Amino acid sequence: MATAVVLCYPTHGHIAPKLAVVEELVRRGERVIYYSAERSRARIEETGAEFRAYAYDHNDFDPNPPTEGLFSDMERLLKLSEVMLPGLLAELREIQPDYLLLDSKSIWGNLAGQILRVPAITLSVVFALHEKLVDAAYLVPRLYNGATPDVLQRALLHLHSYFEVAQRLSQQYGIHCPNLVEFLGNPQPLNIIFTSQMFQLGGEHFDAHYKFVGPSLGARPTAADFPFEQLSNEPLIYISLGTVFNELPDFYRACFAAFADEPYQVVMAIGKNIDRGALGEPPANFVVSDFVPQLEILERAALFITHGGMNSANEGLLYQVPLIVVPQRGDQYMVAGRVAELGAGLPLFTPQSTPERLRATVAQVLADPRFKQGAQRVGESLRAAGGFQRAADEIFLFKQQMGIA
Ligand code: UDP
Repeated sequence: MATAVVLCYPTHGHIAPKLAVVEELVRRGERVIYYSAERSRARIEETGAEFRAYAYDHNDFDPNPPTEGLFSDMERLLKLSEVMLPGLLAELREIQPDYLLLDSKSIWGNLAGQILRVPAITLSVVFALHEKLVDAAYLVPRLYNGATPDVLQRALLHLHSYFEVAQRLSQQYGIHCPNLVEFLGNPQPLNIIFTSQMFQLGGEHFDAHYKFVGPSLGARPTAADFPFEQLSNEPLIYISLGTVFNELPDFYRACFAAFADEPYQVVMAIGKNIDRGALGEPPANFVVSDFVPQLEILERAALFITHGGMNSANEGLLYQVPLIVVPQRGDQYMVAGRVAELGAGLPLFTPQSTPERLRATVAQVLADPRFKQGAQRVGESLRAAGGFQRAADEIFLFKQQMGIA
């Protein structure tokens, strides 16, 4: 059997969907070595994969506070790739992988694959993007829509610096550094996308190099300490802004004000960094928690107010729950647009998220059965997409095509 190396972007939303695929590959006899940050070691080892820590820490990949906009991310991650590469290449030369499993954000993996001439597969939790679907002229105004001249000027400096590093790396290693659209999609000969072709933006434009396998749900962190017994029989509204851009106390307070006197049961996940004291006492019909067992809550939910992270959006729709998407960053705006286009929910932008608008939007989505029907249609497409088993099947087919044992 073959040796695979996973070069992951080490945040929860990027690690989690790969775990079920890796566990399945290990079950089928593959040796899998999974690179991530030290804090995810235990979860990775549970899959049967061998854990390796990057020489850099979680905060080097995902700084807090986050850097500003896409171009600064591009510069930051390419500079990080440049310093990581010598050590990573030495380790990979020793391991001699048969293939690499990349993340849409692991540019260092893209470069290492080219340098070592090892076939690579991207496993992506975000919408697939390629130049037939979007180009830089389309993207840039959308990514920097409404930015002040100051921000725009800094953005251009970041982009300039990205291309300086790109040129240096291209010359040093004789490789191609990703352009803007390639940076966002990290396209490889095989791309496994954790959504359905129906939910994918412009899904009909992708060829056989793209396999849409739906959400990859394996074992989840235990739900033992969630107070299910406190939940009433009122329609359940679930609110979560995910695990990264979730420090929005004003938004959580607006939710308290919006739903305190409404006939709903509300479950709200607020993340680990919110000061509970400053947030104030939750209304009686709220259960507020740092981290909730999301799938179990979605099973009971009538509506999901989400930031539109791809995992959350897919999970909500998989359970046929209509969404109100309050996007915070990047691709979440695309998710909000796609949900509305498919009639599975409505967008609500943070500045509009007043208690009145929240209440009115929830009432609108719950009163109109077409939103539920839209969520059901997308949900069925996600269920039919095959999940982590199909991802493993596609990886094995790819191996066969590439002549890997
Ligand atoms: N999640 C969870 N409980 C929570 C908050 C999040 O289980 O209280 C999980 C959720 O099911 C999803 C992931 O964390 O799988 C969040 O990923 P997503 O892509 O939606 O957002 P991100 O956190 O990357 O912004």
